[in-house]
Amino acid sequence: MNPVYAALGTTIFEHMSGLARELGAINLGQGFPDGGEPRDVLEAASRALLERPNQYPPMAGLPELRAAVAAHYAAHQALDLRADEVIVTSGATEALAAAILALVSAGDEVVMFQPVYDAYVPLVRRAGGIPRLVSLQPPEWRITAESLAALEAQGVRPRVVILNSPLNPTGSMATRAELELLAQFCQRHDAVAICDEVWEHVVFDGAAHQPLMALPGMRERTVKIGSAGKIFSLTGWKVGWMCAAPALAQGLARAHQFLTFTTAPNLQAAVAYGLAKDAASFAAMRAGYQRSRDRLAAGLAGLGYAVLPSAGTYFLSIDLARSGIALDDVSYSDWLVREVGVASIPVSAFYAESPVTNIVRLCFAKSDATLDEALRRMERRP
Ligand code: PMP
Ligand code: GLN
Repeated sequence: MNPVYAALGTTIFEHMSGLARELGAINLGQGFPDGGEPRDVLEAASRALLERPNQYPPMAGLPELRAAVAAHYAAHQALDLRADEVIVTSGATEALAAAILALVSAGDEVVMFQPVYDAYVPLVRRAGGIPRLVSLQPPEWRITAESLAALEAQGVRPRVVILNSPLNPTGSMATRAELELLAQFCQRHDAVAICDEVWEHVVFDGAAHQPLMALPGMRERTVKIGSAGKIFSLTGWKVGWMCAAPALAQGLARAHQFLTFTTAPNLQAAVAYGLAKDAASFAAMRAGYQRSRDRLAAGLAGLGYAVLPSAGTYFLSIDLARSGIALDDVSYSDWLVREVGVASIPVSAFYAESPVTNIVRLCFAKSDATLDEALRRMERRP
């Protein structure tokens, strides 16, 4: 086996969901919503399944979906993408793999920020790249000029920088100032930014997502990745995309053609329909998740847990040490699923080196009844 995979276990998400199924626990681990799928988008898929072709669609995606992604980003993020700068993929996971395989060569340094979404480091290593990790500090998890300068002082010269904002697992969002720092950093090193923006629509408290691609000098050196799974609460669909200027898009398409080549055409058609919906439907989705965030956060605070702020995503975190719990995150998550019947995700799973071990992630994209029952169970402490 390739040593990168020989050294890896099964992902923490699969592990915790497996334990939740086996033990009949409430699953606040893996991030997927409990209902809330938009009926009209499901109906568009079902009509497309019966009435439209079920054979290979064009490799870069249905033209109507590529155009819908470009139009959606023009309307929601004031971006000026053309349809031919959009490549449809089988989820953001495939887009990440294609972008990393296309852009990272043996020996290239790739800057990433910890906590880091678990797919990035193995994909970079498999491509022969060298991960250069910057650890963000709780509770704000900000990228600082000092941390980037420290990398440069160590002689790091990145070819690629990977940014996830809003950030899974912390629920933090990069500020304009952080994006400016990164834009300058990328330009100083002539590096490409891969921006994992799958959570771009799941943002709270009236905040608006800001794409790094929109910053001066970044239009030609950014790959912007999105996912219908998060936008439409349909995580099982695995329809995603990557957007980039033609010179980059060409390389991305070549990597994509030998990963999955295409993605189910009926789901693509339904996502094209969904992306054209009015702003109010996205606002309603956000408002629903914000209510759930507030319900879980208030309940946990009432039980004496120290809850970290969550500006977006389906997740909030608790700080174990500050909640008076002496266990580390892995031991606590294991105890919680086995003894209390609530699955969670230890945040140390999002570290490739020097992990923070006192933070546990909980998914609040669940019904009120599920959240309330989880809270009832979490009255118990180890
Ligand atoms: N990136 C991040 C940061 C994610 O949180 C997820 C899924 N939760 C993905 C990528 C994968 O997205 P998809 O399911 O579309 O492959
Ligand atoms: N990204 C989802 C999460 O953070 C899980 C995706 C997966 O299972 N690979 O929970």
